[in-house]
Amino acid sequence: MSIRLNQLRTRLLNEQQLLQQQIMDFLAQQNRVEFQQLELRLMQLTIARWPEVLLQWQTPGLLEVSVRLEAIQAALSQMEIGLYGICCDCEAKIELDRLDADPTEQRCKICSNPR
Ligand SMILES: [Zn+2]
Repeated sequence: MSIRLNQLRTRLLNEQQLLQQQIMDFLAQQNRVEFQQLELRLMQLTIARWPEVLLQWQTPGLLEVSVRLEAIQAALSQMEIGLYGICCDCEAKIELDRLDADPTEQRCKICSNPR
């Protein structure tokens, strides 16, 4: 794995950890039974299963972080199978400045700006 890729991977892992903490803090602050149940449920699961559960619960206030978490995990999976940084529309390499701006970027410059 190249140094560049490794840096992006570290950023993704850090952000994932941050979101994980953010979600737990949010649930703990709500002081509601259903959120306590959700918190317990999440603690039993690996982080890889969190987006699925969170999106299923449609938890108000957590939708945005859940979608972001899912995007991060998709990027991490793509790294594992060697398909990271490939545009999902045209399969060209995604520009490095775009990946730097957002390591979960899925499209090259051209495909993200359709006419
Ligand atoms: Zn493209």
